[in-house]
Parts: sequence; C-alpha cells; structure tokens
Amino acid sequence: MAAEAGTKTSGVDAGGQGGRHEPLTGIVTTDLAAITRGRFVPARRLERLATTGVGWLQADLSLTPFNTIVHPNPWGSTGDLRLVPDLAARFRTASTGTATPFDLVCGDLVELDGTPWCCCPRTMLRQALADLEAETGLTLVAAFEHEFGLAGPNLPPAHAFAFAALRRTDPFAPMLMAALEEAGVDPDVVIAEYGADQFEITHKPCGGLAAADRAVAIREITREVARGFGWLASFAPKPAPDGVGNGVHIHFSLVDAEGRPATYDAGQPGGLSAAAGAFCAGVLAHLPAITAFTASSVPSYLRLKPHTWSASYTSLAERDREATLRICPVTTIGGRDPAGQYNIEFRAADATANPYLALAAVVRAGLEGLRRRAPSPPLIVGDPEEMSEDERQALGLVRLPTSLDAALDALEADPVVTGWFAPVFLECFAGVKRGEIEHLKGRHPADLCALYGGLF
Ligand code: GLU
Ligand code: MG
Repeated sequence: MAAEAGTKTSGVDAGGQGGRHEPLTGIVTTDLAAITRGRFVPARRLERLATTGVGWLQADLSLTPFNTIVHPNPWGSTGDLRLVPDLAARFRTASTGTATPFDLVCGDLVELDGTPWCCCPRTMLRQALADLEAETGLTLVAAFEHEFGLAGPNLPPAHAFAFAALRRTDPFAPMLMAALEEAGVDPDVVIAEYGADQFEITHKPCGGLAAADRAVAIREITREVARGFGWLASFAPKPAPDGVGNGVHIHFSLVDAEGRPATYDAGQPGGLSAAAGAFCAGVLAHLPAITAFTASSVPSYLRLKPHTWSASYTSLAERDREATLRICPVTTIGGRDPAGQYNIEFRAADATANPYLALAAVVRAGLEGLRRRAPSPPLIVGDPEEMSEDERQALGLVRLPTSLDAALDALEADPVVTGWFAPVFLECFAGVKRGEIEHLKGRHPADLCALYGGLF
C-alpha cells in the first residue's frame, strides 16, 4: 500500500515506485543501547539461513545511540560472529500501511562454530529463564506494557484518557492493533494515556523470551505504523523534563512445573505466594545494581522520580503506582479465580533498556531470592518519599540510583550481580554507558529529552 499523496506521508514514499518487490526479512539483534539492528535478506532464503545466519561483529555491541562505536571497547577492529534467526520469533504483517510487508525475525548471536556468544542479550535471557526453571521448577510468564508519544502534524490537543484522544488519530489505533495481531504479537489493548499525545500498548502474557521478542516487535511496528501517518512514535523515557514519562512496565508471574499459577496464595499478605515473595525480595535486594540494565540511559533518571507514578524506592506495594514492584489488581467478578490473573509489575524500566537484558536482570535477581529462600518483603503502605529516613530504614526502603552514573557505580559495587555476567560483557556495557554519559555532559535536561525523543 503506498501512502496517498496529500493525505498522509510515509517514511519512504513508495508512491509511483511500481516495480517488482523482492520481499525482505530483517534478521535482528537488539543491542545495549536498545536499538534493534540487523541485516535484510530475501524472505525466500530465510529458512536456508536459519542454521548459519548472517554475519555480525562484536564491535557492534559497543555502538552508542549516537551511532558511534565507543572507545575504548573490548573488541577493536577484529572478530566476527553469526546472527542466527530464530524462526519461532518471526513477526510478519502486511498491515502497517507501508509499501511492502513488515518482516522481522529475532536472532541469537553465536561464534562462527555456533557456540552461543557470551554477550548476546537474547541468549542471556534464555539462559536466565532456563536456570530459573532448572533450579526451582518455575517458569516465568511476562508481558511488556509500553507507553509512547505521538508527534507530528494534524494532532489537535486532546484530554487525558479521552475518547477523542484516540479517535483523533484514526485509523492509527485500529491499524496498529491489526498489524500487531497479524504479526503474532497477541496485542491486548491500545489506550490514550495521561500525558499529552501519550498512548499505551500492551500484549497478552507469554513466556519470558517471547515477551521480550514481542517488546522488540511492538516498538518497531508502532514506529512503522506512525511513520505512515507522518508521525513519530517515541518511546523515550521523558518527552520533556516535567512531562509525563513513558514507562515500560514488565508484568511477571510464576508457573510451576505442572503449569499451575504459583504467584498467588490467598493466605499470605497481599496474596503473594512464598515463592513469589522470595523472587520479589531478590529483585528488591539487587535493584540498585540492576537499574543500569532496566533504566539504561541518561534521561531514564529524569523519569525515576518520586510522585511521577514511575519508581523511586526499593518498594513492593499492593496496587500502588509509586511502587517499583506493584502487585496488580485481580477481579473476582463473576466468580473469577484470582490465581491466574495475579501478577507483579516491575515499573523501573523504560525503552532505552534492552528488553532481554532488563528481564534477564529481573529473573537473575529473583532467582537469587529464591535460592536463599528470602522472606517476602514488607508490603509498603504510604509514600516512601514522605517517610523519615528512620521509617524508610526500618522498612528496608532504599532510593534507586538518581543518575546513570550512580546506577553504574551500584552495579559495579554488587558482586552478586556482576557475577552473572562475563567480565568482557561488563566491560562492554560500562564502556557504552560511560561513553553515553560523556557524550551528553553538560546538556540541559530539556535538550536531553528532545534528543532522545527523536532517537527512541
Ligand atoms: N507514565 C508512568 C511511567 O512513567 C506510568 C503511569 C501508569 O501507571 O500507567 O511509568
Ligand atoms: Mg500506563
């Protein structure tokens, strides 16, 4: 479908380009800057490439969001990898409104002999989920909830959550849902959110690896549909220093070896099962250190502030949107069973974080809590920011890092968390993030938001 001249413009105007099209599939990996990069191959060759993949290189993992390979980095100019597509993670739809179908397949980075590469974020998540299952018999079910802003011409102002806020974009939302549905993302809802020109898109819960794949597909498909309208869809953590933040809320629950929900226990405070409580305790204990993986850019920390409904303390609470771990609501209307609905939401993430790495960090931290059979954390009632330091201490509440710099320091200071990764990975990660900080030194927060608004 070519964009109709005069009514809308697409990112690439295919109008009049009437030649034959060779359908292309993008084999992709998502890097430490949370940019999804890859190579396009003719779709008809994809099956043949499923064993050996396409070429990739180590130094690509040291790319910053500003398209520079950071120096120093552990790789230099040498080395080669293969990016092998996972055919189970293919997202294809002809409904994004562009000239040719959207076709993306997530891949794993391996050495030339097929050995998993120790720095592949997707592999790290797969291994974290496998370790969780092997050691505890539990599997993780997850869903990524994305907030984003739309910017561009012909968007009149609208009220928060208003019927008209979504309708003024018509047919953006129905097209987005159709494209996600066709791609196999299994979307749940699209809503007009609280912020100016802010929206939210969710998908139905699925296995942890598939959820992170869906996060990648949702971002790319949303951007592509928006481009067709001449708009920019931005998932950056803050549209402006005082604007409403765009969070990525990661919902998770545990399932036991028999496939039964294992997060809920009606007899426990907040309905939190002992296993889920131990998992949450592990996440909170390592939260300062894993924030670098979940809120992974300089402007992420403009979002993680008290009284913004994001996350700012190591807190678990029932149905409180200021908590980093929120026990989500369940309904018993019509006799519905809470157990299958019950889930926890991790709110300290945004779209400048690699979704595989963010979830892997949460899973590894949760597994630490399960290993030491940690007692469930207290359910926080009230506003941590308004409590005295003594009250916070008694409840174990610690402020999350307030800058990327501080988050990297917290990471380096937690030997349990650094122990999860290959030293070369940590070196690469710190290089990319410290390089980002250096690049942005002295920038005004408003400039930062404007810059990231265009990049993410
Ligand atoms: N926009 C908020 C954030 O930055 C979340 C609001 C909500 O609970 O949906 O995370
Ligand atoms: Mg929301």
